Amino acid sequence: MTRTIRRTEEDGQSVFRFEDPACDLSGVIVVDSLVLGPATGGCRFWRYDDPAAMLADARRLARGMSYKNAMAGLPLGGGKSVIHRPGGAFDREALFRAFGEVLNDLRGVYLAAEDVGTTPGDMEVVRAQTPFVFGLPASGMQAGGDPSPWTALGVFLCIEQVFARRGMALAGRRVAVQGLGSVGRDLCRQLHAGGATLVVADVHEQAVARLLAEVPAEVVSPHAIHRAHVDLFAPCALGGGLNPQTIPELSAAFVVGAANNQLATPDDGERLHARGILYAPDYVANAGGIINVAAEYLGHDRDAVLARVRRIPDRLTEVLDRAEQTGTSPARVADAMARDLIATASGEAILATG
Ligand code: NAD
Repeated sequence: MTRTIRRTEEDGQSVFRFEDPACDLSGVIVVDSLVLGPATGGCRFWRYDDPAAMLADARRLARGMSYKNAMAGLPLGGGKSVIHRPGGAFDREALFRAFGEVLNDLRGVYLAAEDVGTTPGDMEVVRAQTPFVFGLPASGMQAGGDPSPWTALGVFLCIEQVFARRGMALAGRRVAVQGLGSVGRDLCRQLHAGGATLVVADVHEQAVARLLAEVPAEVVSPHAIHRAHVDLFAPCALGGGLNPQTIPELSAAFVVGAANNQLATPDDGERLHARGILYAPDYVANAGGIINVAAEYLGHDRDAVLARVRRIPDRLTEVLDRAEQTGTSPARVADAMARDLIATASGEAILATG
């Protein structure tokens, strides 16, 4: 059996289900919006027990990318791909080569990049098949390579910003970091350098050990990290960590992290707001990585990436100011701002062609 791609339209999103049994490849690409440019978002490589959960994840992540790209001022639409990680042994190179062919079949409607479970090396394998992939190792001052350090920097700057908003310095604060992968580890290094005390957790002991080899931290169980007595909670693992069970147990006054889809549902943004916890909408704070990917796509250099990542806290301030002025949750304000940006661009496109 050869490669197949099946397209369906689901609530305004285009869903491409792909399969190449010869290479153990299966998954979905979701194109959420093409208004601002090609649908762009990371390629997640993850094991899902339920195909419906995989699709739901991909669809929410794709919507988040539309909002993230719009709020970061990038000429990109929103999309996401999720490849189902095979259970047994598999040929990783063959699988990612086959994924490259899927991207070719979509002819640039969707641009992929590294995400949870994938590496810049995987993206190089994909690039050997297709131009529609970014997040490749870069040389010299060119933008590119692992987006994680840029994501971590943007989150770090937002953390400094929310403390400053309440007249507090980072030095001496206690910060809980959930998830010590590419972004979480880098964020910990910066927080430690900035004088914060770290409380950390990861489901993988090796990830904890790797961190402790670099910076001191208090280690707690992954089940208890959100309950830690800290000033700020930084979710840097997977999504859905802020939900009706965890939010009442948070002791932090601030939540600022890198994970995508931190809120299990939109109501959880309201729950945080009702508890007086300042939440930095995830896709505003974690845009550093996609800014780097966009620069690679647009041919910009690392200085341009740094300048744009440094402006992330300004967008966050805009969101928090509006939220405070209107008594609305930051999550709701950010969603409305992102939708407005996309709707305005869509209107302008209609006027230009009409
Ligand atoms: P990663 O896979 O390198 O790290 C994730 C870490 O979280 C792993 O160490 C994993 O063991 C740990 N983890 C998983 N479940 C956990 C749990 N329940 N409790 C504690 N730890 C847990 O991923 P990453 O690249 O560091 O990304 C982290 C998050 O940030 C993801 O949600 C990702 O989508 C998001 N994000 C990443 C980037 C980027 O540039 N890498 C950009 C934007 C958003």
